[in-house]
Amino acid sequence: DPAPPILSVNNIEVIYDHVILVLKGVSLTVPKGGIVAILGANGAGKTTTLKAISNLLHSERGEVTKGSIEFDGGRIDRLSPNELVRRGCIQVMEGRHCFGHLSIEENLLTGAFTRRDGRAAIRDDLEMIYNYFPRLKQRRNSMAGYTSGGEQQMCAIGRAMMSRPKMILLDEPSMGLAPQVVDEIFEIVKDLNTRQGVSFLVAEQNTNMALKYATYGYILETGRIVMDGAADALRDNEDVKEFYLGIG
Ligand code: ATP
Repeated sequence: DPAPPILSVNNIEVIYDHVILVLKGVSLTVPKGGIVAILGANGAGKTTTLKAISNLLHSERGEVTKGSIEFDGGRIDRLSPNELVRRGCIQVMEGRHCFGHLSIEENLLTGAFTRRDGRAAIRDDLEMIYNYFPRLKQRRNSMAGYTSGGEQQMCAIGRAMMSRPKMILLDEPSMGLAPQVVDEIFEIVKDLNTRQGVSFLVAEQNTNMALKYATYGYILETGRIVMDGAADALRDNEDVKEFYLGIG
């Protein structure tokens, strides 16, 4: 039997600026403990889907106008991003967003802002994160702004892990990074998934890479899911090969 869902997005519609219909009824499911990919070209609506889930559309004048979103057994449609983090759902935004003027370690510690379980537990988790990301340990005292793109992406994921999430929404982790570095990052994501039980929803233009690590994928085209399936089935699909596997 498939695992029960940790996240279900049911037929959501998103409108920007009151008139621009960008998501036209998107439904998707992330099973507990899964790594699910949202694939599609630039502008298909991947970022919008993730921001709809984490309720981050207001600052962009976007709004979910239809549908519902459930996480870990409850509706989350109206919850603030901070409340969502407390419940275990956190987004790592596209472009990494580390604080450039803080050290890697300070960046990681900012990820614990919603926690109330004290310094010792937070220190333990810092060590746990350094175990998964040895490069962050080496660079712990470096200003994030002076570290490489790959290290900043690792820092952003590590910081999200500091909130003890059940699920991470990961937006375009491969962006601007060399294939070898992307592999390194996805290997760690897979490890966090297997050993820490964190579920992932990953938006990626890099179909090859995403389908190598995800268990299931959805393909988005101009605001609609046009295909979905197990990762290996998508990899073998002729249309996917023709239209998507050349990309990235
Ligand atoms: P990318 O890889 O560039 O992030 P994406 O698949 O994530 O692409 P979105 O960023 O979700 O796509 O954008 C989907 C559509 O919504 C695009 O046509 C985009 O121009 C439009 N869009 C995004 N943000 C806004 C906004 N704030 N106001 C109006 N339209 C927007």
